[in-house]
Amino acid sequence: MELSTKQIVWLGRISRKFEGYYLAFNGTEIGFCASSCDCCNSSLHGYRFKAVAMPNNQDNENIPLEVCSECINYIANGDIPDDDYID
Ligand SMILES: [Zn+2]
Repeated sequence: MELSTKQIVWLGRISRKFEGYYLAFNGTEIGFCASSCDCCNSSLHGYRFKAVAMPNNQDNENIPLEVCSECINYIANGDIPDDDYID
């Protein structure tokens, strides 16, 4: 799944480490976790989902992620969780 420019900008505002990566959801729900989200670093407890960050640069490896429900909605559907993130 390739993200649009707008999506990459949004993700870049949350976590710069994912610039240059495509993010994809593999459909797996992990369940309720107390761990922080790997995408936006939110420490709010909640449901976590498995996703993967795939680099444009072939020298880098795919990064498995556990992300929060807001991030997975965004990765899977392009839903923007909060207007405050948009200029
Ligand atoms: Zn998140």
